[in-house]
Amino acid sequence: MTPTPEQLRQWDRRIVWHAFTQMVEYEPFIIERAKGCTLVDVDGREYLDGVSSLWCNVHGHRHPKLDAAIRRQLDKVAHVTSLGASNPTTIELARRLVDLAPAGLEHVFFSDDGATAVEVAIKMALQYWRQRAEPRPEKTGYVALGGAYHGDTLGSVSVGGVPRFHAMFEPLLFDVFRLPAPDSYRLPEGVTAENLAAHCLGQLERLLEEHHERIAAMVVEPLVQCAAGMIMHPAGYLRGVRELTARYDVLLIADEVAVGMGRTGRMFACEHEGVTPDLLCLAKGLTGGYLPLAATLTTDAIWGAFLGDFAENKTFYHGHTYGGNPLGAAVALATLDVFDEEQTLVNLGPKIARLGEHLARIGRLPHVGDVRQRGLIGAAELVRDRRTKAPYAWDERRGMRVCEHARGEGVWLRPLGDVIVLMPPLAVTLDELDRIALAAERGIVAAT
Ligand SMILES: *Cc1c(COP(=O)(O)O)cnc(C)c1O
Repeated sequence: MTPTPEQLRQWDRRIVWHAFTQMVEYEPFIIERAKGCTLVDVDGREYLDGVSSLWCNVHGHRHPKLDAAIRRQLDKVAHVTSLGASNPTTIELARRLVDLAPAGLEHVFFSDDGATAVEVAIKMALQYWRQRAEPRPEKTGYVALGGAYHGDTLGSVSVGGVPRFHAMFEPLLFDVFRLPAPDSYRLPEGVTAENLAAHCLGQLERLLEEHHERIAAMVVEPLVQCAAGMIMHPAGYLRGVRELTARYDVLLIADEVAVGMGRTGRMFACEHEGVTPDLLCLAKGLTGGYLPLAATLTTDAIWGAFLGDFAENKTFYHGHTYGGNPLGAAVALATLDVFDEEQTLVNLGPKIARLGEHLARIGRLPHVGDVRQRGLIGAAELVRDRRTKAPYAWDERRGMRVCEHARGEGVWLRPLGDVIVLMPPLAVTLDELDRIALAAERGIVAAT
């Protein structure tokens, strides 16, 4: 007998332990089906997916091409290990990614989630310095930014910098060199929007000058630190980071798990500043938001340091059972095909402009301190006082209240504290985008 919606809600509340969720107050929200940008819950109620099912959906749900790609792959094989074996679909995806990625990224290591893509990059960087022709084994440190989020495994948490999530696990983490995030809204004392990039790059340069001999890599989320509350970096910052890390022999790890795959208006965020990192991490939208698959792309120089006779022990001893899974690879390939066939990036222009119009209007509300946008990432930050930028007490949960209001209007949003996130699938229509933004706006009016 199929369980009733009420039974499902009871089991969901009692048995399922949800991510980033206080289970005492969890109100089951159970999506049974979806189509395009619309989610349908177990009671048949419809919601627009205003946050791309947590920043990963690209071409909409149940896209016929994506569904068909998985079905076709199922008729061949569902899983092949990447430990000493391969399959045509995963090989083809690796080729396509290398063709698309910034020039100089020639090799792909597959894993299964954003956190693992970053773990791979962190470990590769360290091992690279130990094994290259002129070894630098003292290079074991990492530079990361305040508010950084790179996933929830321990290596990723070590480079992460969100105290509310990460402070608890401090005893398990390695130390990093931490620099403040280049935050264009909450500027440091005496710094203007115009010289923020130079100010932050100056801090980085001083750090590298002093410590570069001990630093293996710097990890950044290019352009937008999403989980930090959609902190947007000033123009020129990423380019400057690339120049400085290159000058001081420090590898650059670009975590494009959230901003990659078209989200910023280009396929990869690094393209906006003409940057090739040494390691590029992809996940979330890589499969169109369908299946867990991640990739860490890297250069010939890094790949080369791992080559040698078996007995030299230069192998990268790292792997995940489902890394490079063919079903994931099949839907990732189809995702790239749909980018071409539907001209997704070209068609994004008017949607980015429309989101900008909505944000400009929302930005005039009395308790919206800042609105910011990069591509199809939009954010509105709620504050108690616009002039001083003083936040609301965090346990007032204003952001959550805005989203509860929007949900009542049939729009699903999930905030980052008091930052309201508007991040629909790239396939969103202008009409859907209007409905999402208007629901968010009415939610803000109701909750502030
Ligand atoms: C979501 C995210 C991750 C972690 O990805 P998972 O697939 O959840 O492990 C890493 N980095 C960034 C920038 C992210 O947004």
